[in-house]
Amino acid sequence: MQTLTDPFGRRIEYVRLSVTDRCDLRCFYCMPKGFNDFEEPEHWLSFDEIERVMAAFARLGTRRVRITGGEPLVRKGLPELARRLQEVPGIEDLSLSTNAVQLARHAEALRAGGVQRLNVSLDTPDPQRFREITGGKLEKVIEGLMAAKAAGFAPIKINMVVMKGVNDGDVEAMVDFCIAHDFTLRFIETMPMGDTGRAAGDHFLDLGVVRERLERRFELIPGVMPGGGPARYLQVAGTDLRIGFITPLSQHFCETCNRVRLSVDGTLYLCLGQAHKFELRPLLRAGISDADLEDAIRQAIALKPERHEFNDKPGQVVRFMSMTGG
Ligand code: SAM
Ligand code: SF4
Repeated sequence: MQTLTDPFGRRIEYVRLSVTDRCDLRCFYCMPKGFNDFEEPEHWLSFDEIERVMAAFARLGTRRVRITGGEPLVRKGLPELARRLQEVPGIEDLSLSTNAVQLARHAEALRAGGVQRLNVSLDTPDPQRFREITGGKLEKVIEGLMAAKAAGFAPIKINMVVMKGVNDGDVEAMVDFCIAHDFTLRFIETMPMGDTGRAAGDHFLDLGVVRERLERRFELIPGVMPGGGPARYLQVAGTDLRIGFITPLSQHFCETCNRVRLSVDGTLYLCLGQAHKFELRPLLRAGISDADLEDAIRQAIALKPERHEFNDKPGQVVRFMSMTGG
């Protein structure tokens, strides 16, 4: 079997696939209020083009694909794309990251289409604070989560960006919420992506602090979670709840990075925190052969940098998270 290995010896076998840079929320740490400088629709990779690129990755050893965005559910026909990707030979694990605003409508079709795992972003269980952070309505997200549960998604992972003075006071309430609904909870540190992410950096909170605080109320024991991501897990003793800590800044995990990101316009981004990229769209539209497409992907992987520099050079990534595919 062919494999992709980057210049630092890391096996690349996971693609984060952004199907749109648009979103129906405006989380202040991700996208500026009123922002609408989006990619032109003629630059979006079509479903045929996406399937072709993902099939090439699969021939090169990729087994896992996560659909993301922007908000993936604003891309028309997403469950159909999921179904097509699930049928690509070699792809064994198809997952989706969503804000869940439109999940109630799509949960069943996504499940039937072969999406196996779901990550939902939710930073607070408080409706007013949810509105302040995202501009949207919490009840939609809750409806979406309940529909996902009813459709049989398990585990459902909740991602919470924890910010000092914004929602750090909600950490315990989120733990209770996730115990009650049998969700997995993952805390994430704010990253300086674009002006929005940098501004949110004023609220940066080292997750070590959150862990210490939780240890005062709960007994936390080492936990494991299938999925192979960068989160380190602890389990709340006496419950099924596992809590993951994703600490790109306080304890980076670049040495185990196994992924690249494909944006909606067909650009491969080799690192979330660096500018290195490789454009596939012009090649696809010029009629590149399958063999040359595989070569192009190999060339791209050769550009993958060793690590992000969020701490040393926080000013360098101008893209918002929604543009790259978080
Ligand atoms: N719209 C979907 C969602 O919110 O789950 C998928 C895309 S979103 C860009 C993916 C993840 O990136 C979300 O969990 C979000 O909280 C996170 N994110 C966005 N901007 C961030 C930032 N500056 N720092 C840390 N995480 C960020
Ligand atoms: Fe949209 Fe997700 Fe960014 Fe929030 S984090 S603005 S939901 S893309």
